[in-house]
Amino acid sequence: MTAKTKPASTPLKRPSRSTAKSAATPERQAPRHYAVVGAGIAGIACARTLVQAGHRVTVFEKSRGPGGRMATRHSEFGGFDHGTQYFTVRDARFEKALASASGLVRPWSANTVRILDEAGRVVASALPPKEAHWVATPGMNALVKQWALPLGVAGALALETEVIRMEADKLHPDRWQMQTEGPGAASQVYSGFDAVVLAVPAPQAHALLLSSQQGKTLMPALSGINIAPCWTLMLAFPQALQPTLPHLGPHWNAARSTHHRITWLARESSKPGRGAIERWTVQASPEWSQKHLEDDAERVKAKLLKAFTEVTGIRAQPSHAVVHRWRYAQTTEPLGQPFLWDAKSRIGSCGDWCIGHRVEDGFVSGLEMALALV
Ligand SMILES: Cc1cc2nc3c(=O)[nH]c(=O)nc-3n(C[C@H](O)[C@H](O)[C@H](O)COP(=O)(O)OP(=O)(O)OC[C@H]3O[C@@H](n4cnc5c(N)ncnc54)[C@H](O)[C@@H]3O)c2cc1C
Repeated sequence: MTAKTKPASTPLKRPSRSTAKSAATPERQAPRHYAVVGAGIAGIACARTLVQAGHRVTVFEKSRGPGGRMATRHSEFGGFDHGTQYFTVRDARFEKALASASGLVRPWSANTVRILDEAGRVVASALPPKEAHWVATPGMNALVKQWALPLGVAGALALETEVIRMEADKLHPDRWQMQTEGPGAASQVYSGFDAVVLAVPAPQAHALLLSSQQGKTLMPALSGINIAPCWTLMLAFPQALQPTLPHLGPHWNAARSTHHRITWLARESSKPGRGAIERWTVQASPEWSQKHLEDDAERVKAKLLKAFTEVTGIRAQPSHAVVHRWRYAQTTEPLGQPFLWDAKSRIGSCGDWCIGHRVEDGFVSGLEMALALV
């Protein structure tokens, strides 16, 4: 699970000590208005910290709710964590932040196995957990949703609002304005931002800067980041909810697999706070996902369902089978520093891809970005 880090390809670093010093002058202490693009864990950690330091933020999120890849997909049979499966906690600051949401975060002791057989059979015994695995309840998106709540109440969270371009503010050219699109392609301009933080996957930050013709100095570093895709299959078997049949298939709840199509399977219903209906989430490997990225969803579903049967031995027909394509799922080569900042344009970028590929990396990156700005 550890990712290789490489040095940033440009000398962009945290705001310099001299900038930090001058931030102590009365003028610099004046509250600033930040645009934060992206309401995943990085964007929300960043926005909350800026607000706590007395600044104003507006968070733009293109989806219907906050959470990003810490996602929950609802179905008539119960929810699926179709993005993040669980998270680990190593940074004391993340641990402290989680304490504020202790009722929401629960340990998940999945009896995980490793599947090594080419045919998909379990040939290795249980994988002893190296560290605790945590999940948010009732679904993975609940944590960021909770942290974003005060921002929503304060009117600082613009949902279903995709930033499509950044440009100089028409009234104050030293500030930024955001061109956005909402439902039904309704466009709106938000103006008056002193600085912008792009808390989105690196390729999306790169595309936004490119289409805006801004922040050119950030682009070389952003273009060096590789984030692998992931096709994800969600299955429900309500027929397993019979007294004589507590669940279908294997006795393990999660598996790392070397099957040529899939790398991970988890029984959703084994996670705390979820419904009892038997549900599985299956992740295709980065290589397979890349190769089949543009394939028809029905074709992908059929292939992943076949692989699922081979690995689990479950031959029953699911009552619910849906696939989701994550174009940017897991960083394969991170930046190697906690965030990017271009003082001249006042544009920064953060996200898990800065330091790794995990939820905690997203949190730490967003936090470090904000701490450097305040
Ligand atoms: C399938 C899968 C499985 C995973 N499993 C695990 C795991 O088990 N454990 C773990 O620790 N991590 C896992 N991860 C990784 C984890 O989800 C990420 O590390 C973390 O969620 C990244 O958070 P982020 O805030 O950096 O980015 P994101 O969560 O991607 O947030 C970015 C947000 O920006 C929004 N956005 C993008 N462009 C725009 C725009 N132009 N305008 C407005 N909004 C925009 C997006 O909608 C999104 O909400 C997994 C990820 C995936 C996809």
